[in-house]
Amino acid sequence: MINKSINTSNTSARIFCIGRNYAKHAQELNNPTSDKPIIFMKPITALLAPGQTISFPKHGKLLHFEAELVLQIGHSAKHIAAEQALTHINAITLGLDLTLRDLQKQKQQQGLPWEEAKAFDQSAPIGTLINYDAKQINLANLSFRCDVNGTLRQQGNSADMLFNCQSIIAYLSKIWQLNPGDLIFTGTPAGVGALHVGDTITIASDQIGSFSWSISN
Ligand code: ZN
Repeated sequence: MINKSINTSNTSARIFCIGRNYAKHAQELNNPTSDKPIIFMKPITALLAPGQTISFPKHGKLLHFEAELVLQIGHSAKHIAAEQALTHINAITLGLDLTLRDLQKQKQQQGLPWEEAKAFDQSAPIGTLINYDAKQINLANLSFRCDVNGTLRQQGNSADMLFNCQSIIAYLSKIWQLNPGDLIFTGTPAGVGALHVGDTITIASDQIGSFSWSISN
């Protein structure tokens, strides 16, 4: 298992995110699901390494955690066939798609873009990337969990994704040439909730590892 980190000052990699990819999470927010992946992006500067402190953003009040499986692309390609898609994954980890839910609701109601609610500084904490080996890790059946202050809040399995890893990569690559280092947040299972100053959040998977962040003012 080789661990890697990303130098955010010297990369053109992007962060693609998939919304509403678990039916029970869409239901808990009263959102309809879609017959195509719902895509948004965060800047690479939103990344935050494990063990760091998340500063509670000042431009919203309701900071939600969303634990997600994260994929990293290994080489450049466009129009990737779903059957070949897993061979384009270099590494995987877990991440948090931090969301200012109050601001997101407000923007949605106004029909405006979400960036301020989803793409702010430190909105994408991710764990250490581990090499993806299809023989050792089954991306169609990978369980992960999220605990806040030691209490289980989210328990997910990639088997419940509406769009699996292959179809996400195939779909994205029709629109964007995927490049080495690009990251894909694959959506969150049910159980999202609020974070407060003083909390510690941990995301973990037997196959990937355990990663924590604390929330400060
Ligand atoms: Zn998300």
